[in-house]
Amino acid sequence: MSLSEIQTRLTAAEVASGRVPGSVQLIAVSKVQPLERVVAVLAAGHRLFGENYVQEAQAKWPDLRARFGAVQVHMIGPLQTNKAKVAVELFDAIHTVDRLSLAEKLAKLAQGRGACPQLFVQVNTGAEPQKAGILPGDTDGFVTTCRAMDLPLAGLMCIPPEGEDAAPHFAMLAQMAARNGLTGLSMGMSSDFEAAIAHGATHVRVGSAIFGARDYG
Ligand SMILES: *Cc1c(COP(=O)(O)O)cnc(C)c1O
Repeated sequence: MSLSEIQTRLTAAEVASGRVPGSVQLIAVSKVQPLERVVAVLAAGHRLFGENYVQEAQAKWPDLRARFGAVQVHMIGPLQTNKAKVAVELFDAIHTVDRLSLAEKLAKLAQGRGACPQLFVQVNTGAEPQKAGILPGDTDGFVTTCRAMDLPLAGLMCIPPEGEDAAPHFAMLAQMAARNGLTGLSMGMSSDFEAAIAHGATHVRVGSAIFGARDYG
């Protein structure tokens, strides 16, 4: 697979779903990838990336931004509250607002800086005990709470349970976003981004299909 193949499939999925071509943002998930693969995707002109770890992103992106100019980097991994300060300075968006304590910390930082990255609330659509995210039944209330803190909510994000059909989870997330007046939908990965686009994804997070398998060794 390659960036251009994924872009071709993404455009086809947009057209097939009656979406405006170019309306879905492709987040190239570069966590744990060798630097030369990331540089190759930058050299091909791509300018939107996703990272899971604050420290890894901090080591990588200041240099790459200096070399390649304006690059958007989105945080898509779990965010510890004690890393929130670094995160709001490094990232253009945070997709993993998954608890009240983090929302409160982000609100405090936003007040101090007068700026805040775009935020997505992570919803645990499968109500999996080991997974981060706001439970579906608590999501409307959590969105209201975030808005009361003046947090700039862009939308909702989910990671469907492994080994299950993702479509019902994408549909649920789309419904929850719509009834809360949120337009952003961060959903879909290498194996299911086309289904996510059919259900209204605005941001798909694609890693291994662009860069190849991750080697955590
Ligand atoms: C790693 C990761 C991705 C990308 O996964 P692939 O299967 O490699 O496309 C997407 N979203 C999140 C939250 C991730 O942690």
